[in-house]
Amino acid sequence: MLPQRSAVQFILTKVLACYLAVTGFVLCVFITWSYQQYQENRQHVVQQLRSSVETVIEQTPDNIDQLLASLTLGTQFFSRDFASVESFALLGEDGSIVFSWPNQAQLEATDSSLFQLLAIQNSSFTLALAFPKWPLYQVVVNNLPAAMGILLLQFVLLLAVLAVVIKRGVRSGFEGFMRELSLVCLERPTPLQAHSFPGQFGEYRQILDGINRVILSLAKSREEFSNINKSLENHIKAKTAALEERNQELVDLNQQLSVIANTDALTQVYNRTRFDVLFLEYVMLARRRVTPLSLLLVDLDDFKKVNDRFGHQTGDLVLKHAAQVIQKEVGEEGVVARWGGEEFAVLLPYFDLHSAERKAESLRAVLAEAHFEEQSIRVTTSIGVAQLSSIETGPELLKRADDALYDAKGSGRNRVIIAYVEESHAQLDSDSLMEGEFIEVFDVEPVPIQDEPKASQKHSS
Ligand code: GH3
Ligand code: MG
Ligand code: MG
Repeated sequence: MLPQRSAVQFILTKVLACYLAVTGFVLCVFITWSYQQYQENRQHVVQQLRSSVETVIEQTPDNIDQLLASLTLGTQFFSRDFASVESFALLGEDGSIVFSWPNQAQLEATDSSLFQLLAIQNSSFTLALAFPKWPLYQVVVNNLPAAMGILLLQFVLLLAVLAVVIKRGVRSGFEGFMRELSLVCLERPTPLQAHSFPGQFGEYRQILDGINRVILSLAKSREEFSNINKSLENHIKAKTAALEERNQELVDLNQQLSVIANTDALTQVYNRTRFDVLFLEYVMLARRRVTPLSLLLVDLDDFKKVNDRFGHQTGDLVLKHAAQVIQKEVGEEGVVARWGGEEFAVLLPYFDLHSAERKAESLRAVLAEAHFEEQSIRVTTSIGVAQLSSIETGPELLKRADDALYDAKGSGRNRVIIAYVEESHAQLDSDSLMEGEFIEVFDVEPVPIQDEPKASQKHSS
């Protein structure tokens, strides 16, 4: 239990004790000094009186009047400057009083302190002196005002010092308290140590104790929060890692689904759905860049007979093999897709009509020379070739290529037929584009097309 002692009580107790000690010391000094004064004065009086009487008697041994006059003058001196002699008397040989001071001096009262002074030549005299019964008291009373003055002065000085000390002490205590309060750090709660001056007082200790309790509770809460935070962070990290893993699985699955959705299951080249999208994009890209774009439609001749002769399963293998041959021949230069049944479409960007014709011819020749499957099945192909003109749409280009293919079939198969147009341009003329057409075309970026999975890569595996 802390002592219930206020700062003011503490200061007053200390100061009062100091004051009493100093007062006692001053009084002791005063009494000692007074006693010494008394003794000295007494000696001095006796000496003065003796020498005065002796002098008078020596100078005028028989002149009693002069002696008395001298003693009268002496009494003036005693009464003025010295108060420790109550009375004195000069007695003759017969004991009668020759002189007394004061005039009605009580000799009985001085019996105890009779003082044999001296004997004079013709006649003897006795000097009787009476000192006060309480000489010290008298001296103290005489000097008490001075002592009281000193003590009063001391008390005033004490009050002044006390006022300054209390003022400064309270201020410095408050400042120290505020300084220590300012050290309270909520980020890192640490109990205060109370090193400063007011640390010794009960109130301050109590306040500090309360503050430290709050600080410790804060520190505990902070630690608990920190632990909760850490466990939450770990939980979130684990959940995030699981989510990222799941997300990656979904991305992979999505890619697989995308490949499946865009790829023909039998031949592993692009399917018709994907081709339709790519075809429109390539058409718009060619218009935007004002570059040529050609299309080949490849049809295996009399494929029904292959099925009829070798069976449908073998027909499938031939179809698959033919797709690989086409893909290999086109390579990175174009896009190959299964157009439907035993028909393939080949998009050739940057190919003008003549380049496309050469590519179609080499493709036809390679397929014609290929030996499919164990039975060395031979298949010929008919190819229709068309280049995108500046005035036609994608479907119109398809129609012209299909017409060319039809012509190839009609003229005996195993051949390449070019679809010419009256306005056949290797380069698209930008002046012929309709106003505003560029705006629509510019919305399509070429990048996704370049990033498309290549059928050739799939085949090469
Ligand atoms: P042409 O004789 O001039 O080529 O005419 P065409 O293209 O119209 O007729 P073709 O004789 O080539 O017959 C097409 C056949 O292709 C019909 C069908 O049996 C066969 N076919 C289509 N798809 C597949 C397939 O996925 N697998 C197999 N094995 N055969 C298919
Ligand atoms: Mg066909
Ligand atoms: Mg056919």
